[in-house]
Amino acid sequence: MKEHLQDIVKCVRCGRCRTVCPVQKVLGWEFAGARGRMQMALGLASGLAPTEGMLNSLLNCTTCQQCVTECPAGVDPQKVTRAARHKLISLGQIAPYQKEMLNRIQDTGNSLGDKSSRTSWLSKPAVSEQCEFIYFAGCLASYREKNTADATYRILEPFGVCLLQDERCCGSPLFRLGLDAKDLIKHNSSQVEKAGAHTVIVGCAGCYSMFKEHYPGFNVLHISEFLADRLEKIPLKKLDISVTYHDPCHLGRTHGIYDAPRKIIENICTLVEMEDSRDKANCCGGGGGVRLGNPELSGSIAENLADKIPENVDYVVTSCPLCYRNLSDVGITVLDLADLIWMSIGED
Ligand code: SF4
Ligand code: SF4
Repeated sequence: MKEHLQDIVKCVRCGRCRTVCPVQKVLGWEFAGARGRMQMALGLASGLAPTEGMLNSLLNCTTCQQCVTECPAGVDPQKVTRAARHKLISLGQIAPYQKEMLNRIQDTGNSLGDKSSRTSWLSKPAVSEQCEFIYFAGCLASYREKNTADATYRILEPFGVCLLQDERCCGSPLFRLGLDAKDLIKHNSSQVEKAGAHTVIVGCAGCYSMFKEHYPGFNVLHISEFLADRLEKIPLKKLDISVTYHDPCHLGRTHGIYDAPRKIIENICTLVEMEDSRDKANCCGGGGGVRLGNPELSGSIAENLADKIPENVDYVVTSCPLCYRNLSDVGITVLDLADLIWMSIGED
């Protein structure tokens, strides 16, 4: 924690982050927001004994980074929060669902604890030879959004993209919860090397962030980046629908991927922007382990986002299966970007 002290003391307690934090908007009290968490992190770094209240507050951060965008002092509260979670674990303060996530991944290699095949979504056999580009499907697409995984692969396959022989969780769920993801990073990295690939393509914002920040040695692209540069080679047909686009936090605010998904959408149908978009986009509520640990809070944040959807759009398009699931669960009609592309190509 001490290595984050410099970040922590940069917080001038101005409270600007209180106006944007989606968790504070729902829970309404100081320690549910970035400023309060910075105070708790300061306490921890100064040797204050951890409490259950501290753990609950620190675990309720979706790591959306809306506070980072807003902070005039250049503080990164979500980075400090993650470090504080790690510190709490080292002091024996670990929530049951953090342990559950660890067990799921240790037992099955995926964040759902699903013991079935990771590639049961494949509607036709995968290309197994070595290739330059890998499609890393991720846990949620592999086990919960199988049609999206299949559509993504079928869009990418003509470009010579193949799958890892033994893909496992990218490690993002562990990392965000303050746990160690080194073994997963080592395993997936060795799989990429074995395939001889120089680029990993992902369809999930969490996987993207994890690969980009923690997997050295190869390029990482979101499918929107890969496809936006190859649009003339994809047989897209115009669709008579209008959609809005939800920027996933870990794709947009964290890595600045705003234009590529929009370029693809505008080649397919009408795009109507939300009032808050790009770096001001609202969080879906699913990240940072909050969907697992506090589903009620997660749902309330998604409901707040629902109020911002422009009228008369047919779909909210997003490019992350976690956003897809969290927004769908509160009744929003969501479409993954890959499914929109597949719909436009017009194959079943
Ligand atoms: S906006 Fe930045 S400086 Fe202001 S209270 Fe929040 S974290 Fe601290
Ligand atoms: S990262 Fe998001 S949820 Fe966490 S403190 Fe900042 S604004 Fe709030």
